[in-house]
Amino acid sequence: MIHQCVENVVVGVESTAHTLSFGLVEMDGTPHSSKSSLFRPKEGGIHPREAADHHSDVAADLLSSLMNDYELEPNQISAIAFSQGPGLGPCLRVGATIARALSIDWNVPLVGVNHCVAHIEIGRNQTGCSDPVLLYVSGGNTQVIARAGDRYQVIGETLDIGIGNMLDKFARMQGIPFPGGPKIEILADEWLSNNSDANLDEVSLPYSIQGMDLNFSGILNAAQMRINEGCELGAVCWSLQEHAFAACIEVAERALAHTGKTELLLGGGVACNERIRGMSEIMCKERGATAFWPEKKFCVDNGTMIAELGRKMIQSNISTDILESSVNPSLRTDHTTIVWE
Ligand code: AMP
Ligand code: MG
Repeated sequence: MIHQCVENVVVGVESTAHTLSFGLVEMDGTPHSSKSSLFRPKEGGIHPREAADHHSDVAADLLSSLMNDYELEPNQISAIAFSQGPGLGPCLRVGATIARALSIDWNVPLVGVNHCVAHIEIGRNQTGCSDPVLLYVSGGNTQVIARAGDRYQVIGETLDIGIGNMLDKFARMQGIPFPGGPKIEILADEWLSNNSDANLDEVSLPYSIQGMDLNFSGILNAAQMRINEGCELGAVCWSLQEHAFAACIEVAERALAHTGKTELLLGGGVACNERIRGMSEIMCKERGATAFWPEKKFCVDNGTMIAELGRKMIQSNISTDILESSVNPSLRTDHTTIVWE
């Protein structure tokens, strides 16, 4: 139990995909841990309707546990923020419906936020970096983003599936349940510690960059082919991480070079991985830049990051009229106007 009393907070609701999460941030920017529930499919991938049903089922208990743990009363809440997009429509609609109801019940402003921008703002809040290139590596998204004027511009991105989705699919093909990324990291580490003279040529995989963009379907198929040819699972996990992460880091490095920025911020669930963190650090060191990442609980999807962006928007006098609060599953990172520092 956390049991601490906080005042004057923004509550955030995250529901873009596999996670329903409530979090809060005080008006001075102090974040507090979220209450989250992850939908784990019994078999196969994430079915949007089933994930949405999970979110509806757990919502009341999750919110009560947040309110109880922080001894929070409605009169301490200044605004309710929710992920308006991008994400899975049925899942987004659960979060939006909860937020609209709470806005009316608590009589506080509603703020619809851009989930991708929230990853940037919680990273800035947590690490103290000010004007970073963000390498956003999550289940559904893979983007390299940097601020230009009043927008966070997407400089490069995946043209097919997100890197986390690729890792989860490869894991699932080996019988490893969702989320597969953490298990792939363990298998890769174990294999490398027993094979210190490992050579990437022995587990060759494609390395796919088109200009500033990436794709991951080809490497997913190729990794499965290596398994079918009899390669050890640990070796393929290691090679998969090395190739996929190196491609992301290459695009991030070019983004640093093009923009002249000197900070790299990692965000999204795949940013929990120690190898991609290590690669970021090496690349940044070599070019006189600095790599940052928030704690793991703020890398994965969480309600606190939604609250943090909601706080910045409310403090910039931005809120969302209920009639404007419908969700947008294909909301782009660069569609949101940024008016705060
Ligand atoms: P998000 O969509 O941002 O909540 O992140 C979830 C994604 O992060 C899933 O695809 C996970 O497999 C992936 N993930 C979480 N931890 C790790 C890790 N240690 N290494 C690689 N991927 C990870
Ligand atoms: Mg995310």
